[in-house]
This record gives sequence, C-alpha cells and structure tokens, in this order.
Amino acid sequence: MSYSLLSDANQRLEKALRYVSLSDDVTERLRYPKASLSVSIPVRMDDGSLRVFQGYRVRYDDSRGPTKGGVRFHPHVTLDEVQSLAFWMTFKCAVLNLPFGGAKGGITLNPKELSKFELERLSRGYVDAIADFIGPDIDIPAPDVYTNPMIMGWMMDQYSIIQRKIIPAVVTGKPISMGGSLGRETATAMGAFFVIQTAMTHFSQSPAQTTVAIQGFGNAGAVLAELMFRAGYQVVAVSDSQGGVYAKQGLDIPSIRRLKDSSRGIRAVYCEGSVCSTVEHASITNEELLELDVDILIPAALENQITAENADKIRARYVFEVANGPTNSAADAILEAKGIHVFPDILVNAGGVTVSYYEWVQNRSGFYWSLDEVNRRLEQSMTAETEKIWAIAQELSVSLRTAAYVHALNRLGDAIQAKGTQDYYVS
Ligand code: NAD
Repeated sequence: MSYSLLSDANQRLEKALRYVSLSDDVTERLRYPKASLSVSIPVRMDDGSLRVFQGYRVRYDDSRGPTKGGVRFHPHVTLDEVQSLAFWMTFKCAVLNLPFGGAKGGITLNPKELSKFELERLSRGYVDAIADFIGPDIDIPAPDVYTNPMIMGWMMDQYSIIQRKIIPAVVTGKPISMGGSLGRETATAMGAFFVIQTAMTHFSQSPAQTTVAIQGFGNAGAVLAELMFRAGYQVVAVSDSQGGVYAKQGLDIPSIRRLKDSSRGIRAVYCEGSVCSTVEHASITNEELLELDVDILIPAALENQITAENADKIRARYVFEVANGPTNSAADAILEAKGIHVFPDILVNAGGVTVSYYEWVQNRSGFYWSLDEVNRRLEQSMTAETEKIWAIAQELSVSLRTAAYVHALNRLGDAIQAKGTQDYYVS
C-alpha cells in the first residue's frame, strides 16, 4: 500500500508537469526526499522489560522554508509511507503559500497496546532520537493519526530539555497552555468548510438544496458535519468505522455528536439514543455511503476509499477530500469522465497545517491571537487559494486536482529556480 501511495502521488505530479514550464532541475529535485532518518527507540516498559520501536522522520523538500508535517503512531507506518506523506505535505504547504516545505514522521506501533507512561517515554525517546533533525528553523512536527496535543506537549518539553531553553515553536498542535493556538483543533474542518462555501458559489446551489454524505465522524468529519448542518446543508448520511446512518430528510448532527461522545458509535447512537425516535433512518455500510445519490460526498476517514473498483458507482456531483489520499489516481480518470468535481486533499484539508503555521508564528512572536483572528485569517487564505485553483482549472481545462498541483508546482518551481538552474549556469 505504501508503494502505491508514493507512485500514485508521483503520477499526479507527472500529469501536472505537462501544464507548467519549469526547468528539468525542479522535477529532478522533487523526485527525491531531501533527507530520511530511520531511528530505533528503546523504551522501558511498565513491567521492566525493554522494547525497541522503529521510528522515522522524512524531510521531503525545504526550498520554501523549514519543513512541516505530522507524526503518525500506527502499526502500518513504513519509511515508504512516511516519504509519500512528506511529499504530500510539500505540495499542501505550497498550495496555501505557507513558508514551509514538507515533512512527516512516524513510529511503527499500535499505540492502544501501550500504557500512558509507556506512550510518554516513547514520545520523549522519539524526540531524543530525532533532536538533531528538527527545530523551529529546520523541521517542525505536529499531530497526525493517533497522536494528539498531549503527545505534542511531551515532544516540545523534551526538545526544550535537550536544548536547555523553552522552545515552543519546535512542535505545533500543542495544548493551549503550552503555546498551542486557539482554533487548531477545529482548523481542518473549518478550512474544509471555507473551501466548500467558496466552491459552491460557482455552482449556484444554496445549502438548503444541497445534500451531503460524510464518511468518517472523527476530529475532522464530525466538526465539519456540524458546521455544514449549522450552515443549512442537508447532511443526510454520516459513518464511522462501525458503519453509518442515512436519513433522506437530513440528520440532526449536534445530537449525533452529543450522543456519540457518550456512546459506542453512530449506529448505536441512532438506535439506542433519543434521536432514533425523531428521525427515520436507515443503517448503511461505508461502501453504500460512498455510492449515495447526494450532491456532496466528503471522505473524511481513510486513504484509498474511491478506487477503480467503485468510482463508476459514485453518484455525488462534488467530492471534497478531507482525508489524505481517499481517491487513487485510477479513480481520478473515472470521476473526471463522469463530470464529478473533485476538490483535492492538498487544498481541502490544508486548514490544519495553516493554523499550525499560525501557532508557529505566535510562538515566535510571543503574541497570541484571539479565536476570531485565527478563523478570520484562515477563511481569507482558504478562500483565496480555492479561487486561484478554480481559475487555473478553468484556464487550463484541467481537473481541480491537477490545477492544485500546478499551483503548488509554480510556487515550488520559483523557489527551486531562484537558487539557479541549468538555464542560468549554461546560457
Ligand atoms: P480521527 O481518528 O479523529 O477520525 C477518523 C474517523 O474515521 C473516525 O470516526 C473513525 O471511526 C472513522 N473510520 C475509521 N475507519 C473507517 C472506515 N473503514 N470507514 C469509515 N470510517 C472509518 O481522524 P481525523 O483527524 O478526523 O482524520 C481523518 C482524516 O483526515 C485522515 O485521513 C487524516 O489524515 C485527515 N486529516 C486530518 C487532519 C486533522 O487535523 N485532524 C488534518 C489533515 C488531514
């Protein structure tokens, strides 16, 4: 799976390269990660035994600034996967015009098998192992799958212990009390919401007439579902790893969120909670959710959900990719042929890294912004970059994904070319 993720990402790059006039130097540079670090992390377990975990940190490209990217704790983490995620981060930061390159990190483990003490020792051990590779002006980690603000706090604290001074800007996604930014936890969903609002102005369709299905009801999916519900969209289906629910007349998202917090899952919520009695609903599988006849489909769970196997069955008119890599490149062509507008992950979910950038700025200036200030700036950035990508897609008659890559490539190309290319040295 990891190999296919990276080769898929490269296919999109190759496609976008047809529409930009950049030196071959740029393409050559972007084919390889700048640096990949592989580390062993010894951890003293609660029973006294010693376990050694495998960890990685990859800095893909730093032409536009220090590299930025999350740290993933997951049993499937491999160097290949981390490299492909770092590649994506490079393009995502360029799409949003953040002064960052792309990076990613990970540790191969099932975090649910560790106690909290073990998790803290592992997080601090990871920072001990990569301390020379990161820093506020070099590479700035953040949360990703199965890592959270508390883990980021431990990592920042450990780096500060090593450096003998407090350095909050080395990690983002920290608890607010340790220099985290207001609005970081909701930033991905909020950013996606601004992209959707901007996009829908081009399709003359009001929220009340627009039906929405969301796969994944976690940090990103559940917050976005509520934002859309409150804006008047008809959110007719949501799902989590246990399955989903569908109600033609729309779901009461705040009730689902409230009940899910104190229950096992969405289906349990609907069948055992009070909402059951007020909304006529059907249980659906995640596969069925993807194939619903809705206006907007939002994959907000996992990668590789829309593939050559099911792309032909997708009936939504617009897809907004909140998850990283939910559509593979084989599905791209099928969706495009069906006239489905796919707003790509490197734009739609970039609100998270954008507010991480705001956190880094606040840490470095020592001046902290209000939530309104964070959201105002986020709206401005997400709206402006969505409009630019929309304009590129219209001008070049390409998909929104290719347009987003072209947009990022132009910015990356400028930075790489500014240091001199063959054209400069030879002509
Ligand atoms: P999360 O762990 O909070 O939530 C994931 C959700 O997906 C959960 O509701 C889980 O039950 C559900 N899920 C898991 N397996 C599923 C399956 N097979 N079918 C349907 N649902 C399933 O994660 P998150 O932070 O919400 O991230 C979701 C996606 O968004 C990921 O791809 C992540 O990389 C991407 N993303 C998140 C952020 C962020 O800031 N949270 C930023 C950028 C990208």
